[in-house]
Amino acid sequence: MRAEIVAVGTELLLGQNLDTNTAHIAERLAANGIDCTHQVCVGDNLARIADTFRLALARSDAVICTGGLGPTQDDITREAMAEVAGVPLERNPEAVALVEAVFAARGRHMSPSNLRQGDVPKGATIIPPRLGTAPGLIVPVGEQVIYAMPGVPEEMAEMLERVVLSDLRRRSGDHAVIASRVIRTWGLGESALAELVTPRFDALEHAGPSAPTIAFLASGMEGIKIRLTVKAGDAATALAALDAEEAQLRTLLGPLVFGTDEETMEQAIGKLLLGRSLHLALAESFTGGLIAARLVGVAGASQYFCGGIVAYDSAIKHRLLGVPAGPVVSAEAAITMADGICSLLGAEVGLATTGVAGPDPQDGEVPGTCFAAIALPDRPTEAVALRLSGTRQRIREIGTISALDALRRRLLDATP
Ligand code: AMP
Ligand code: MG
Repeated sequence: MRAEIVAVGTELLLGQNLDTNTAHIAERLAANGIDCTHQVCVGDNLARIADTFRLALARSDAVICTGGLGPTQDDITREAMAEVAGVPLERNPEAVALVEAVFAARGRHMSPSNLRQGDVPKGATIIPPRLGTAPGLIVPVGEQVIYAMPGVPEEMAEMLERVVLSDLRRRSGDHAVIASRVIRTWGLGESALAELVTPRFDALEHAGPSAPTIAFLASGMEGIKIRLTVKAGDAATALAALDAEEAQLRTLLGPLVFGTDEETMEQAIGKLLLGRSLHLALAESFTGGLIAARLVGVAGASQYFCGGIVAYDSAIKHRLLGVPAGPVVSAEAAITMADGICSLLGAEVGLATTGVAGPDPQDGEVPGTCFAAIALPDRPTEAVALRLSGTRQRIREIGTISALDALRRRLLDATP
């Protein structure tokens, strides 16, 4: 069973409304083991909607459409379906009664234009509305089918769950489950990462249809995600296949992997600190509190995060953290800051940042010259040079996650 999603609405094409319906339907199709092969967005134009349906029916078994079921002149999904199915559009007493009942229940006057919502392509099945006024429709086209649901996301989601998904599953006779997992990485670009993963690509290519597939999703400041997707007869089998493939990838990628699915860098760090009963203190210069903000975004951070200071003015670095007079954008300054904040706040682990966020140079250093230093109890304090580029905002944000990653990697080596 191959399903295609059609989102109808000129507002979507203009970028005024985000097409969240397509994403929602796609996710629910995957969870129900139904392949989605195409997603199309089309404006409120009869000829173009009809063409879109024809193309969709030429390559998919089922079309799932949202939008254009309202009472106004630009709501023409009903007309387009009738045209494609080759049947007349008829005012259906059952559908009219459903719309009238919604207005009666709300004690609202029904305007004559709402009667259009009772127009139904001959032979269609009506999906009674529960949340809005628009009935949904199931329109058979030969052996194929078009489902039409309202565009309002809540109304659509309710009909999808109540009627459409089970109808699709019944038609397909297939009860497979599609499951995904995202492996989250930081530290390598997409092509270098793909090179490391090549052995798995090759192995999976020859492993048959039930093997997971691998896709890369570059996610900017959040690193590169590797998405695994698997189709299996039941959830347990799908999960086992994902577990096995995740283990293979972790072997290849080692410390590049910081988490899975929604797990963030700061959550990964929280776990490591907690597992080693360590406490962290921060001395932030060019990141100006961004690292602290990310850390305290995690519930329970007080168990391992002491606090920090934004040591932005050089005088603060000298006076509170013991950085000697002279340039403050250097590995040595970062190291002194990390050690200084540990003694100041009584923490075992210190993370410090110093650098030039730009746009102007400082201490003769160009923007993007940044250092992070990590103080740990069982080894000498170390600094890493971060060579960053871009706008001031980007330098501060990439600097934040890079510093967090440098800390994470050293915590991985620290004795648990
Ligand atoms: P319609 O059923 O075409 O009258 O759509 C009603 C409203 O639902 C629109 O004005 C949008 O605000 C919203 N909407 C329509 N299509 C979508 C979509 N694909 N994703 C999210 N919202 C939508
Ligand atoms: Mg519309």
